[in-house]
Amino acid sequence: MSDTFKALVLRQEGDKVRLAIEQLTVNDLPEGDVLVAVEYSSLNYKDAMAVMGAGKIVREYPMVPGIDLAGTVLESKSPFYKPGDKVVLTGWSVGERYWGGYTQRARVKSNWLVPLPEGLDTLRAMAIGTAGFTAMLCVMTLEEAGIQPGTGTILVTGAAGGVGSVAVAVLSNLGYRVAALTAPGQEHTHEYLEDLGATDFISGPEWSEQPRPLETQRWAGAIDTVGGKVLARVLAEMHYGGCVANCGLAGSSDLPTTVMPFILRAVSLRGVDSVMCPVPRRKTAWSRLVRDLPSESLEKITPGIISLGDVPKYAPELLAGNVRGRLVVGVRA
Ligand code: NDP
Repeated sequence: MSDTFKALVLRQEGDKVRLAIEQLTVNDLPEGDVLVAVEYSSLNYKDAMAVMGAGKIVREYPMVPGIDLAGTVLESKSPFYKPGDKVVLTGWSVGERYWGGYTQRARVKSNWLVPLPEGLDTLRAMAIGTAGFTAMLCVMTLEEAGIQPGTGTILVTGAAGGVGSVAVAVLSNLGYRVAALTAPGQEHTHEYLEDLGATDFISGPEWSEQPRPLETQRWAGAIDTVGGKVLARVLAEMHYGGCVANCGLAGSSDLPTTVMPFILRAVSLRGVDSVMCPVPRRKTAWSRLVRDLPSESLEKITPGIISLGDVPKYAPELLAGNVRGRLVVGVRA
């Protein structure tokens, strides 16, 4: 097959990276047993870092970034997929170590894929994307720790971001009382978060200060996407027996806390990773998203679809905190 298709390719040139739309053929694609016609991908925090050459996200060059994709199987050597099947892929280090979703054709390993659950189309799947999938893993983690609606308020940090927005919408739809923490100066996002179901809005200078080892107990559970002093304060403010699901480090990867919340308040801190998450848990998370994320909320979270050519423009905006909710990347040929 020699038909060409478009892909956004990152190449390393000395100590710099160059990003350009290139015309490729399927012969340029890496090994894999399933060829997918990609319809949508999305722009996540990690993607923004990758295309900006920030951090050490990309492990191999040349790289097609995009940590998730959704599309239709074109060719398959796997007994589990046939041409025409709709599939979604998040994690497994695509867009970091293996070529990702910013391409009209992707050749991938079948065991990275999840069949698109009934009730989702490829656009909706990428409106949810890795960020929404991770938000659901965080909600499941709190449930597994025994946090139920009625236990008390759940705090979501980085609430106006991709992960935070979906977490707020899912939790409020499940009947939890949700408090949304936004960075100072982001008060204009409170109306949006209220629309998604948050009822309490938290922001204040104390959130950039070092907390005391224990503060007044405020939260039954928390989903933290920020890390650093924010996570340290969240831990210090948890109810006795509360649980924090931490998936992110948008603020910092440091954790300047003490053992006090763990010893004296039996607080648990559970890490959430979408990259290596086992397949049965992936399937559960996707079907829970169909059930627990109302389409009205998803529409509010997803302001629009950008093109492959728009990615370099939006990546710095996302890292600067100027993007609310989720950005879908339309790549269909
Ligand atoms: P976004 O950039 O969409 O959102 C991050 C949010 O955090 C922004 O609203 C930002 O607000 C806020 N924020 C940053 N610093 C602070 C601070 N000091 N205090 C309060 N709020 C702050 O990113 P995503 O939602 O896509 O991702 C969030 C994090 O989760 C990232 O670190 C990402 O890498 C991680 N992640 C982890 C996954 C996993 O599998 N574990 C999967 C997906 C994401 P503002 O704009 O005002 O600064």
